[in-house]
Amino acid sequence: MTDCLFCKIRDGEIPADRVYENDDVVAFRDVNPQAPTHVLIVPKRHIATINDLEPADAALMGEMQLAAKSIAANEGIDEDGYRLVVNCNSRAGQTVFHIHMHLLGGRAMTWPPG
Ligand code: 5GP
Ligand code: ZN
Repeated sequence: MTDCLFCKIRDGEIPADRVYENDDVVAFRDVNPQAPTHVLIVPKRHIATINDLEPADAALMGEMQLAAKSIAANEGIDEDGYRLVVNCNSRAGQTVFHIHMHLLGGRAMTWPPG
């Protein structure tokens, strides 16, 4: 995908503060953090939204959760707790149409979410 922000970050064309990377996933700090820890976990392959997932993507989604577990431990927020959020389409507030999981932690969270 040529005009995708997260593809450009993946390719190093746009700088980002990377905290994790493996063959399938890259993670970097959100430029507008909503919590002391706010990391975006992104599959390297461009997939626009959760609605576009196929059964063959199941392992990739698992990789994202395992990345979240690892990053939370590195950030020292695993025991206190953290929140994982994936927004899908406009009503949920998705603004970048390349799937990403928000990892939010370092403060108390409220429920229900806004
Ligand atoms: P969404 O609203 O699509 O679920 O989340 C997109 C996120 O990407 C937002 O939290 C926003 O702050 C973040 N973001 C937007 N542009 C950039 C950027 O250039 N660099 C980084 N690191 N994060 C970005
Ligand atoms: Zn992309």
